[in-house]
Amino acid sequence: MRLPLIERYRAFLPVSLNTPVVSLLEGSTPLIPLKGPEEAKRRGVQIYAKYEGLNPTGSFKDRGMTLAVSKALEGGAKAVACASTGNTAASAAAYAARAGMTAIVILPAGYVALGKVAQSLMHGARIVQVEGNFDDALRLTRELTERFPVALVNSVNPHRLEGQKTLAFEVVDELGDAPHYHALPVGNAGNITAHWMGYKAYFAAGRASRLPRMLGFQAAGAAPLVLGRPVEKPETIATAIRIGNPASWEGAIRAKEESGGLIEAVTDEEILEAYRYLAREEGIFVEPASAASLAGVWRLLREGRLEEGTRVVLTLTGHGLKDPATAEKVAQLPPPVPATLEAVARASGLL
Ligand SMILES: *Cc1c(COP(=O)(O)O)cnc(C)c1O
Repeated sequence: MRLPLIERYRAFLPVSLNTPVVSLLEGSTPLIPLKGPEEAKRRGVQIYAKYEGLNPTGSFKDRGMTLAVSKALEGGAKAVACASTGNTAASAAAYAARAGMTAIVILPAGYVALGKVAQSLMHGARIVQVEGNFDDALRLTRELTERFPVALVNSVNPHRLEGQKTLAFEVVDELGDAPHYHALPVGNAGNITAHWMGYKAYFAAGRASRLPRMLGFQAAGAAPLVLGRPVEKPETIATAIRIGNPASWEGAIRAKEESGGLIEAVTDEEILEAYRYLAREEGIFVEPASAASLAGVWRLLREGRLEEGTRVVLTLTGHGLKDPATAEKVAQLPPPVPATLEAVARASGLL
């Protein structure tokens, strides 16, 4: 039987028997071996995709939210709040609904993918759209939660990172050891920080014999960690990582340096190439931000920067259905045809 994430990894998490477990049976997502791309096959590099789109609300945020909301409830909170590029909001809204709490979600107006807005709406969150970007929304949410009795559930809440570190546990449990490399997209940088915490905790407990090198990829128009300074007006098609001043800046740099890894930028074109490839060649539909992980690894492969025979894990952070508008732009819907066999056969490419 599938267990709540908190039950599965209770020994590694800051919970007690008094903690009410608020769960939607998150985690336990598939680790799918990719067939390609060609450059990986040629070098004998095996890539595995941790498909986080299969979490209850369609992103890895559920791993952190089960813990953050459970701990908020344990502490007597009646409401939770977050700033969000969309997925944190969707997750907070669902877990708050489950817990009988109120969720307040603060979104950068006009830059949240449609599926994520729909989720927050349907789960009954109080939605506030601010005329600003994510960084503005996070600043306001922090101020709001300092002034009012509302629990902050952004990844600056340490329970979020504690929950998200379980992704590394699942990878090691499945592969029998840590991979050589672990690649993921980086926005607010909580997740790369959490992954690294997880690998270190498992290594310390003797569950893994090595640590992976962490490969973080930001979008070129929103790459503060690569530039070494905040970006005032971040821009990218990958709205989930459209962040100019990551809250977990130091955590990300530590993960990179301690692991001997790297944080680089990929262009929107590279992101879209990987986005298309995953859907068309591998059958895995992700949202654009998720594809940044493959885009980065692909570039390393082309530049001959990954050794022969290595194992690489990608975190595919969110489901493709989150952002139907980008899918429709990238792969165009053909116009309707008359309802005749000939027209249908012709439009199908069979005639
Ligand atoms: C939140 C999110 C990210 C970025 O994770 P950070 O912890 O903010 O670095 C990447 N992809 C998706 C789909 C996300 O929802």
